[in-house]
Amino acid sequence: MTAIMDTLFIEFRDPLFGIIVFFALIFIIAFVSYWWGRLRSKEDYRYLERFLRSFKKPPSQAALRHEIGSSELSKKSWLLIAETYVQNGDFEQAVDIYQNLLEQHSDPVRRRELLLLLAQAYFKAGFLERCEKILLKILGRFPRTPQALNLLLFTYERLRSYDKALEILEPLDELGQDVGKDRRYLETMRLIQDDTVPALEKCEVLSDHYLKYHSLMYLTFEFLFRHDPARAWKTLDTGSGKRIADMLWRLDEAQLDLDIITSDDYLRQLYSARGSVNLAQNSPEFELDVLIKLRQSGQNGATLQFEYLCSQCKQIFPFPFYRCNNCHSIDTVFPEAQLTKESGALNAEEFGERAYEV
Ligand SMILES: [Zn+2]
Repeated sequence: MTAIMDTLFIEFRDPLFGIIVFFALIFIIAFVSYWWGRLRSKEDYRYLERFLRSFKKPPSQAALRHEIGSSELSKKSWLLIAETYVQNGDFEQAVDIYQNLLEQHSDPVRRRELLLLLAQAYFKAGFLERCEKILLKILGRFPRTPQALNLLLFTYERLRSYDKALEILEPLDELGQDVGKDRRYLETMRLIQDDTVPALEKCEVLSDHYLKYHSLMYLTFEFLFRHDPARAWKTLDTGSGKRIADMLWRLDEAQLDLDIITSDDYLRQLYSARGSVNLAQNSPEFELDVLIKLRQSGQNGATLQFEYLCSQCKQIFPFPFYRCNNCHSIDTVFPEAQLTKESGALNAEEFGERAYEV
């Protein structure tokens, strides 16, 4: 027994043993603090998740009514909240707020403002019949409300009720709004949608109107190139091809009018960039210039794709439009070309053949 104690005693005094104990303690402390840190961060994460989940769930109708009635938030703040919901596409919540605010207001002017906001939310959500109903209710009491008349005009337009939309132009005209462009646009849309008129007759009218007013260019040429390309080429003014560049870019080779293309600077550049002709060595348009240079060096891996700018509000859309979805202006669409990689690109020899054929 004494011998064992002696051995241990000697080992305790061994400096190596002290170092081992020291490192073991460091290891234990490091392990415990690491484990504690992980536990804390997991707890924090769970707390944060619980907190965020409470926001994801919208308040119920009853809760919202109670909140709006008793909350210290001003009505103006509730309107801002509803507007944020509309901007985020959460129309249901915005509609709930407007409806609850309406229940608490009896002043007719204030109710008109709220009803208009409600109609706008329905319009954006695509509930056009509900939107129409509310607008007619507003106009029944306040017939000279331009915002309601304009929104009703857009609603009928989306519903393709062009006759009703045209009727709205009269009170807007009386209120001093310039409705000339709207009238031509709605009459053109009504004509295009009319199944009783043959397509070629529509083309004739559209072409005459374009030559007379020089408006509704995108709408006119979209229809003309689809139904009567020869008339479309004859109607197109020199130098204005850029406004329908996407349409011209996608035309079949058989639909091209080489005489007109040869006589127009922009068209020569556009179709040289496409590889249909070889009539331009460069272009002031960066995208066309790059493509022309690529064709000249026998490379054919790039093409154009388009996005659509509203010249009024400067918003960009992935698809063309007749009336801007953002600012509701007519005839403000401008195709913007962008260089992109061509899928299924032809090699240099095939490209040469294609250019030669045309
Ligand atoms: Zn716009």
